[in-house]
Amino acid sequence: MSIQTLVESPAATKSAFSSATFDEYVMSTYGRFPLALVRGEGSRVWDAEGREYLDFVAGIATCTLGHAHPALVEAVTNQIKTLHHVSNLYYIPQQGQLAQWLVEHSCADKAFFCNSGAEANEGAIKLARKYAHTVLGIQEPVIITAHASFHGRTLATITATGQPKYQQNFDPLMPGFQYVPYNDIPALEAAIAQIDTGERRVAAILLEALQGEGGVRPGDLAYFQRVREICTAKGILLILDEVQVGMARSGKLWGYENLGIEPDIFTSAKGLGGGIPIGAMLCKQFCDVFKPGDHASTFGGNPFVCAAALAVCQTLEKENILANVQARGEQLRAGLKAIALKYPDLITEVRGWGLINGLELNAEAALTSTEVIKAAISEGLLIVPAGPKVLRFVPPLIVTAEEIAQALLALERAIAQAIK
Ligand SMILES: *Cc1c(COP(=O)(O)O)cnc(C)c1O
Repeated sequence: MSIQTLVESPAATKSAFSSATFDEYVMSTYGRFPLALVRGEGSRVWDAEGREYLDFVAGIATCTLGHAHPALVEAVTNQIKTLHHVSNLYYIPQQGQLAQWLVEHSCADKAFFCNSGAEANEGAIKLARKYAHTVLGIQEPVIITAHASFHGRTLATITATGQPKYQQNFDPLMPGFQYVPYNDIPALEAAIAQIDTGERRVAAILLEALQGEGGVRPGDLAYFQRVREICTAKGILLILDEVQVGMARSGKLWGYENLGIEPDIFTSAKGLGGGIPIGAMLCKQFCDVFKPGDHASTFGGNPFVCAAALAVCQTLEKENILANVQARGEQLRAGLKAIALKYPDLITEVRGWGLINGLELNAEAALTSTEVIKAAISEGLLIVPAGPKVLRFVPPLIVTAEEIAQALLALERAIAQAIK
């Protein structure tokens, strides 16, 4: 590539972008929509052609404060000018402050920082296994996870993910995982009874409080209460993957607060840094089974990402964003339900918590979520699928009432266009 291309002014990006050139050099691991986004502000983004979109994807439930939020811009700008990366060989004050905020605002006692959701879940799996071996004396620990779950793309986390499509051709998978249907107590009890024989025992149950990628399926209150009782009675660790639903997206700070229970370990990532890559694994006091040298990350919790996450946390409180998530969530679900009533043959269900909501298309209908999403893009609305038949709505948590209303109108136009 010539230097000339690199120093072009922002205005020139309009003509500079070519998807053919992009595809020539970047691996084709993603199915991409034909759109290059170059600028954002609040809940809006603009493409290379200057077209404006309402962003109800938010980097897939990640841009908590939307785009270019002044608090985030100020925090990362100040931090990168001062000190952006050192190493966990030394104390990192911002990491300590972030851990303190998270512990004071959750059921956890301590935090470990990494860079992504999959990595946070890897940390939780390692911690659960070490606890099983050294505290519970289990020789072959098993972790139970749910069908239709999603826990990441590393080898351990695709194994934990109860969806064969993510595992195919990547075998051999990791030993020590078993799957059960979600929200089904008899199936869980049967699985535990079947596993717990001699050396092989259930060490942990790993679940999402609301299954995000698996179709926006909220956990049942009664199910999770019983899971908690079973775990407590049997000394099984309850690990909740809060990577997508946590950090205020559900209308509570953590998804588990909607279920009236507390996990022993939980993980966070997507919304935590507001779009700056950071993951966290949080745990109750027994996390001290991890000793120096047991687990580490070069980038994990560096000053830059922690300053970003701290700004997100403090802004959530300062701007009372939870109240907005609850009100805008109600508005969005009411609007989606009204649309569903107009298309009873096409739309079978609207469900979700706070600002993570799904609209399920009839499995019998020919229309797929991708077709509706393409029509929505042409109407100026970005949304993301959660499987072939579910449309997912995960806007920034600062989205306004007016923007929700505009998105609903755009969605109606998109559906009308897609069914033609
Ligand atoms: C996105 C997601 C992950 C994986 O996070 P990455 O940052 O992509 O590794 C794990 N669990 C859940 C519930 C997720 O939604």
